[in-house]
Amino acid sequence: MSNEPTIHRFPADHEGAFVNAYLVETESGLIAVDSLLTVSESRALREGVEALQKPLLAVLLTHSHPDHYGGLTELVAGDDVPIIAPEGVIDTIVRDDPLKEQILRPMFGDEWPAERTFPNTPISDGESLDFDNAVFTVIDLGPSESPYDSPWTLGPDERIVFLGDQIYDHKHCYLADGFWEQWLGNIEKLRARFPSDVVFHVGHGGPVGSDDFDWQRRYIETFLDAVGNADWTNQEQAHGAVVARMKDYLPTDELQFLMELSIVPVAVQLELVAPDPHGGT
Ligand SMILES: [Zn+2]
Repeated sequence: MSNEPTIHRFPADHEGAFVNAYLVETESGLIAVDSLLTVSESRALREGVEALQKPLLAVLLTHSHPDHYGGLTELVAGDDVPIIAPEGVIDTIVRDDPLKEQILRPMFGDEWPAERTFPNTPISDGESLDFDNAVFTVIDLGPSESPYDSPWTLGPDERIVFLGDQIYDHKHCYLADGFWEQWLGNIEKLRARFPSDVVFHVGHGGPVGSDDFDWQRRYIETFLDAVGNADWTNQEQAHGAVVARMKDYLPTDELQFLMELSIVPVAVQLELVAPDPHGGT
């Protein structure tokens, strides 16, 4: 088939260690999948739009986490562009953004965008969008890795999928939202849905394939086991024990902070420690 869309990953030059966004180039325009976290990276993504010299037709969001929507203001740069996601994703972003501001401002300073843009166009499960015969279809997954997730397939045979963070490509993972049971269930649901030669374009690293669901499942199970078996009479030591176990499973620092941010919230949810009355999770 000629006129196949071209998929550009951003940023191109750090091998996807942190966050990925994508520009899908069709004959007449560009469709972005997600934005990035920081102002500079999102500005570079916008420069990618300018460099390709085609209009940005739409932005599709894969889930409700701030590393994927924070850069929308820079990406759309004042253009009137539909930013499309299921209502659940839109509502979650609007609800949680003030809390994300509290967490991310101290970590990233001015690199966390001062002004955030929210998705403005809801879409229902299974609905498709056609751009020059590049047909995107949304999967309204509900709670999974984030409080609300929405992978997108590209093409009728579902061999190209923008999977969001359902699989991290061998990087530490964020589990603080506490929907791991749904996440594990969705891993099996998604594994069964797609052909074995599917290409998953993911939020961190990649692309990956169907076999990587096994790694992701084991990461989640190992983390839950590590938190569950730590000695919570001493929180600091418990934290250290979980980090050591996870570094043993995955000996990299990449996105380690996301895993560390998840330890106490998961311990709270497992009722191993009392919730902090001042801290949100
Ligand atoms: Zn992410």
